[in-house]
Amino acid sequence: MPLRVLAVASECFPLVKTGGLADVVGALPAALAAEDIAVTTLLPGYPAVMQALGEASASQALPGFFGGAARLVRSRAAGLDLLVLDAPHLFARPGNPYLAPGGREWEDNGTRFAALAAAAAMVARGVMGQGFDVVHAHDWQAGLVGAYLRFGGEPRVPVVFTIHNLAFQGQFPAWLFPLLGLPMEAFGVEGLEYHGGVGFLKAGLWFADRITTVSPTYATEIRTHEGGMGLDGLLRGRGGDVGGILNGIDDAEWNPATDERLPARFSTTDLAPRAANKLALQRHFGLEERADAPLFGFVGRLAWQKGVDLILEALPWLLGSGGQLVVLGSGDAALEERCRGAAAANAGRIGTVIGFDEGLARLIYGGADSLLVPSRFEPCGLAQLCALRYGAAPLVARVGGLADTVIDANEAAVAAGCATGVQFAPVTVEMLGAAVERMVALYRQPAAWARMQANAMGGDVSWRRSAARYATLFHELAATDA
Ligand code: ADP
Repeated sequence: MPLRVLAVASECFPLVKTGGLADVVGALPAALAAEDIAVTTLLPGYPAVMQALGEASASQALPGFFGGAARLVRSRAAGLDLLVLDAPHLFARPGNPYLAPGGREWEDNGTRFAALAAAAAMVARGVMGQGFDVVHAHDWQAGLVGAYLRFGGEPRVPVVFTIHNLAFQGQFPAWLFPLLGLPMEAFGVEGLEYHGGVGFLKAGLWFADRITTVSPTYATEIRTHEGGMGLDGLLRGRGGDVGGILNGIDDAEWNPATDERLPARFSTTDLAPRAANKLALQRHFGLEERADAPLFGFVGRLAWQKGVDLILEALPWLLGSGGQLVVLGSGDAALEERCRGAAAANAGRIGTVIGFDEGLARLIYGGADSLLVPSRFEPCGLAQLCALRYGAAPLVARVGGLADTVIDANEAAVAAGCATGVQFAPVTVEMLGAAVERMVALYRQPAAWARMQANAMGGDVSWRRSAARYATLFHELAATDA
C-alpha cells in the first residue's frame, strides 16, 4: 500500500499560480508517485480551480463552515488527485488568490485560510473516508493545520510543514482568534500567539512534527538573526527537526529539446539552433540583433527581494562590457517604472516587458546567454533551475538555494571543468558589477563558455533526488506515529 500524504496549499500549478510555491505543489505529486507515495492535494475552491475540476467522485457537506455553507469535493484535474474546499463565501472570487481588486489583501484572509486548515485536519482524520498517514502543509496559508490536528482529537496525524518563503508570515490581529474555533489554551506563546496577534506561519512552525525549507543553505540562514525574520529563535529551538530539501523542476515540462513554445528547439548535443532564440529575443525586445553581444536576462517578481534595483544600478558594468539586457516581470510600481525608464534611455541595448508571460520567460531562458538572479535572499529559486536547463548560464547571489544549485566558475571549478555559472557575495552593486564582468570574460572564451553551458544543461535539476528525501521523511514520520 502506498503511503497516503495530504498536501495542503493555496496554489498549485497549473490551476492557480502566483509564484514558485505553485510549481512545487504541482510537481511533487508525480515525483512522489515514483517513490510509492500517493499524494492528494487540498486546495481552496477558487473559480479557476472549480472550473478545472473533473466530475466529483465524492463530496461531503460542511454546513455552517466559517460563516457559510461549504463542501469538500474529491475530483481530479491536471493529472492531480484533488480535494477542494468549495466554500463560495470564502473563495468564489476571481483573480489573484490573496488580493482584492485594487491590490489590497482580502480583509478576511485569516478566516479563509483558517478554514482551509480546519478542513485539512478533518480530511486527514478521515471525514471523507480513509484518512491520511502524513499531512504536508505549505507556507502560512496552511499554517494552522497542525493546530487543528493538535486540538481536534484522534488520530493525531503527523505534519511536515514546508517554508517556501519566511517573508510571508500570515500575521493577523488577536480578534481573529475567537473565530477560529480553537480552545483558549492554543493562544499562547506556545501556540498561535505572535507579537500579540495570531501568527499563521509561527503556528505552523510550532505545531509541525518536522519543518523543511526548500534548500539546505536557506535552512541554515533562517536560523540566524540576519535571515530569521524574527522566527530564528523558534527555528533554532526546533533543533534537528528543521532541514532543507532542494526544489526541482519538472524536466519533461521544462525541456529545450521538445518545448513547443521556443522558436527553435535545441539540446546539449545540438546547441546551434539556440542562436535563433537569441535573435528572436533581441527582436522581441527591440534590441540590436547582434549574435556576439552577451545578452543578460531577468525573469521574476519586481521586488526588493529579487535585487532588481541592483541590476539597474549595475548597468554601467553591464553596458560597459558590451552587454544587453532584457527584463520580464511585474510587481512594485516604482521598480516597474525604473525598468521601463532604463529601456527608454538605452534603446537597442535594454528592453523591458512588464507582465507575466510564460512563453516569453521560456524564450529568455532559451535565448539569453546569462540569467541574472541577484536576490537579497532566495529560499530556493526556480528561475535559475530553468536557466540551467535551457543553457542561460545563471549569474546569482550566493544566498539560499542559489548557493546550492549553481557552481561558481572560479579558477578551480573552471580547471576541473564543472562550473555552471557565476556566484557573487556580498549582495552589493559593486560585487554584482564585478560578477557581470566575470561572466562576460567567460563568454568571450568560447571553449570555457561551451563547457560551462554544457555543464549547466547536463546537470540534474529534476525532482528525483529531492522526492526521495521527502519520501524518506514521510516514511519516518508515519512509522513514528504508528
Ligand atoms: P518566487 O519567489 O516568485 O516564487 P521562484 O524563482 O521560486 O520565485 O519562482 C518563480 C517562477 O515563476 C519561475 O517558474 C519563473 O519562471 C516564473 N515567473 C516569475 N515571473 C514571471 C513572469 N513575469 N513571467 C513568466 N514567468 C514568471
